[in-house]
Amino acid sequence: MTPRRKAGTSSAVVLGELICEKLKVSAVQAVCNKTAIDLAGEMKCTFPAFNGNRLNLEKHVLKSLAEEEDFNGFINYIRQPKSQVETFIRAEVKKYIFTEHKDKALDILRKNVDVINKLVIKTQRGDTNRWMEEFSSLLKDDLTFETICCQNFSDIENFDFLKEAIERRLVFISQEMKNLSVDKINESRQKPDQILIDQLCKCCWVTCPFCAAVCTNTLENHSPDKHNVPFHRPSGIKGWHFKGTVELVIYFCTTNVASDGSFYPHHDSETSIPFKQYQTAGEEYSTWQITPDESKLKYWKWFVCRFQTQLENYYKLKFQGREHEYHLSITGLTQTLTPV
Ligand SMILES: [Zn+2]
Ligand SMILES: [Zn+2]
Repeated sequence: MTPRRKAGTSSAVVLGELICEKLKVSAVQAVCNKTAIDLAGEMKCTFPAFNGNRLNLEKHVLKSLAEEEDFNGFINYIRQPKSQVETFIRAEVKKYIFTEHKDKALDILRKNVDVINKLVIKTQRGDTNRWMEEFSSLLKDDLTFETICCQNFSDIENFDFLKEAIERRLVFISQEMKNLSVDKINESRQKPDQILIDQLCKCCWVTCPFCAAVCTNTLENHSPDKHNVPFHRPSGIKGWHFKGTVELVIYFCTTNVASDGSFYPHHDSETSIPFKQYQTAGEEYSTWQITPDESKLKYWKWFVCRFQTQLENYYKLKFQGREHEYHLSITGLTQTLTPV
């Protein structure tokens, strides 16, 4: 024999379930968002590619492209450097969380489950009359818990029953949360790779008109300061070639701007501009400061040597009269990206 339940009991059960369902969704979201932020912070501090400036990050991108000998990645990096850097960040974050440091990632997730579980349990205390109100206001602050519309539940008289129903479900929710997997971060509003992309890629992405090297200024818009980059590349990498021939330019733009030669600023230009006056050739040239010097990264010499055929096919042009020094091996090349 069971005692007859008071009127409104079934509504209390429905409302209890609705509250718990919403609470569970909010709690999982809160754990995932917090974990995404913590993981991004952890990687920013300890992961070598992410714990410096963009120039440091780019060195790691180039190192990875060279190690994988990934020509398509190189071409994408030359044409759309930001997109290639983003691809690199996404891949490294994935590797970090799901392969190389998955225990660390799980620890962070577990720690956040405990934090949010404690918060959920805290809601069980309080004055019965104002319980609903406190319940939703406490959760609203920390868990973005939506206010539940109680209009359809006006027949609920027994709030103690509702409270009990919720308390029982909360135990299950806490238990379920403990089994959350790191994969859940993929569904989170905040994502660790996107947080890192937003932080690390917020800078100037304008490329050198001759060699496509990316300006290293940390400000997105730094006018009137000129774009600048410590290391340029052979112009042929961007497809520059000698007019009327199929010969790709092997010279670095830092050498070119010191020479007595001249160039045609656009493929349909009719008059050439002396290299020494490159800044008079239009806006994409005038906004750059290319310091004439003899610094040449071995890296780009290796790149031209290693991918000569692919580059020639890509541009339908030729590298002719290559210098002997371009016969370099990859050994030791990616350790330090310094000029020769
Ligand atoms: Zn350049
Ligand atoms: Zn710039």
